[in-house]
Amino acid sequence: MSSPRIGVLALQGDVREHVRALTGSGAEACEVRRAAELGSLDGLVLPGGESTTIGRLLRVFDLLDPLRAAVAGGLPVFGSCAGMILLARDVIDGRPDQPLIGGLDVVVRRNAFGRQVESFETDLTVAGVEGPAVHAVFIRAPWVEKAGDGVDVLARVGDRPVAIRQGPLLATSFHPELTGDIRVHRLFVQIVRSELGLKRGRS
Ligand code: GLN
Repeated sequence: MSSPRIGVLALQGDVREHVRALTGSGAEACEVRRAAELGSLDGLVLPGGESTTIGRLLRVFDLLDPLRAAVAGGLPVFGSCAGMILLARDVIDGRPDQPLIGGLDVVVRRNAFGRQVESFETDLTVAGVEGPAVHAVFIRAPWVEKAGDGVDVLARVGDRPVAIRQGPLLATSFHPELTGDIRVHRLFVQIVRSELGLKRGRS
């Protein structure tokens, strides 16, 4: 099967690391900055960074509505950290004017793990990822505070969901792009491939 084309939103954040992990996972990865580029994608990654900054840039670059339309149209999207916040339907402790793309039926709490443990690393079992535990890096990370019935929880820290999936949307509170372990990206590429298969089956 040919490589799926997966974009990485390249307004701010750790774009290159995602491009590398996607390429290693068998995708054709490209940086995306304009709405016109969305149409050619089979999937999209929203990187970690700062969700308020990325949100502001989404407005400046007129990307907010095109991205909402793409998600509503079934485009597979993987959001890590700030990307998870952008995919949520609501955010606690966000900025009042902070725009979200939405798509995931979750409420997330921004900077949830608190000041003392702003950043930490831990090993997690992630459903859908085979083999040893995933070493997860959390940097001022959100957690999922509330999730609708359609949301699958793939991993938790304590009782807080930190990796979730709802249909073609995948999100992690942590940064799988930073460790060199590309199994979460492989899982996303698998989701993209199976969505492509479904689309072909329908047409
Ligand atoms: N705290 C950041 C935010 O609110 C997310 C941090 C990250 O992506 N590493 O967007």
